[in-house]
Amino acid sequence: MAAMKEIPYKIYLEEHEMPKAWYNVRADMKNKPAPLLNPATHQPMTAEELGVVFCKELVDQELDNTNPYIAIPQEILDFYKMYRPSPLVRAYCLEEKLQTPAKIYYKFEGNNTSGSHKLNSAIAQAYYAKKQGLKGVTTETGAGQWGTALSMACAYLGLDCQVYMVKVSYEQKPFRREVMRTYGASVTPSPSETTNVGRKILIEHPGTSGSLGCAISEAVEAATSQEGYRYVLGSVLNQVLLHQSVIGLETKAAMDKYGIKADIIIGCAGGGSNVGGLISPFVGEMLRGEADYRIIAVEPASCPSLTRGKFSYDYCDTGMVCPLAKMYTLGSGFIPSANHAGGLRYHGMSPTVSQLYHDGLIEATSVEQTEVFRVAQEFARVEGILPAPESSHAIKVAVDEALKCKETGEEKTIVFGLTGTGYFDMYAYQKFNDGTMTDYIPTDEDLAKGFASLPQVED
Ligand SMILES: *Cc1c(COP(=O)(O)O)cnc(C)c1O
Repeated sequence: MAAMKEIPYKIYLEEHEMPKAWYNVRADMKNKPAPLLNPATHQPMTAEELGVVFCKELVDQELDNTNPYIAIPQEILDFYKMYRPSPLVRAYCLEEKLQTPAKIYYKFEGNNTSGSHKLNSAIAQAYYAKKQGLKGVTTETGAGQWGTALSMACAYLGLDCQVYMVKVSYEQKPFRREVMRTYGASVTPSPSETTNVGRKILIEHPGTSGSLGCAISEAVEAATSQEGYRYVLGSVLNQVLLHQSVIGLETKAAMDKYGIKADIIIGCAGGGSNVGGLISPFVGEMLRGEADYRIIAVEPASCPSLTRGKFSYDYCDTGMVCPLAKMYTLGSGFIPSANHAGGLRYHGMSPTVSQLYHDGLIEATSVEQTEVFRVAQEFARVEGILPAPESSHAIKVAVDEALKCKETGEEKTIVFGLTGTGYFDMYAYQKFNDGTMTDYIPTDEDLAKGFASLPQVED
């Protein structure tokens, strides 16, 4: 035991890959993401206006296009240490199964109770709310991962957490709800009688099962109508991408340590936060002319914002209360087909990821859900982890690229983000296992309806 004492624990923390600062890719972008606009005046949102809805320090991060590194506060580092650095795994068994010469790596973010990367930003957002002396935060959750992550972060910091959960998920995913309640959050099915906007929607659409857009509107109203509360969002925003850069920084540190250079980097894209965070340090190198990578964002064919959307200012929510963002979007009125089970159903895309895509720094592709679940099942059987349907979009394209290497004999190094586990998605897996899962690709006419809801903005 005496010998043990002589090993200072600190050495390990300093040598391992966890970063002490987030990387802000906007600082290295020549074309910055377009500013958020006030939905009423169409003028850029000022810090003061944003501060009514969001925490002050997060507003500063949202608007910061110049500082490349932002120090991670010690309290957040202490929390990260509970589950970070997350493992970067060589998928030897998958390589073997595919008989590919490619080397496949995945960065696994499902190693925490919330089961996804969303905790990386939840703890940061809750920390700044606490530091500002607030009583609590409000948010919306669809599938439930974000609400779960936020409730964990709030429990840790002693903040009140009010979650508006899309009614259909609230009913279909009772265990997600109970996890949030176990961490002390209050969970309200949306639309609800607790807000003006909820009551209005209930009168107009009695019996509605809710939508993400409606839940956002309720959460924003709840934040602005209670003293000491602010609203927080789990994806899309610049600040969320910034926090998620820990994924990419750790990946890069681990690869540099072992002298491995990635050729292809792949991430799934819903609102764009995990893929944005994974690729940020690598895109930074590209922007500075230091290295080159092929980067692919993968989205569902049923919600194809990058591959078929318009690069335009749009509402971030269906209720049209949030600022306008310039992004690849299908229109805030777009709702993916009811048979879509694979997540990633947001109509828009992070303005930062959108700008990188627009400038040709990254590629995008879309995949159909039955293929996604087929590959998810294959991955689970050989690698052990039961992947989230969202993450499986990235697995699908990683497998496709590895199979191309098999044809050409190239030994490419492929890295993909495995954003989470799929334990709360077993209804979707059940559909796949029963053979009742179908694919639906929206027609151009379907998409035209969503585009018709785009606001007219001069920019
Ligand atoms: C929320 C979520 C996503 C998609 O969100 P992004 O902001 O695009 O990263 C992907 N995977 C998992 C497991 C998620 O929970």
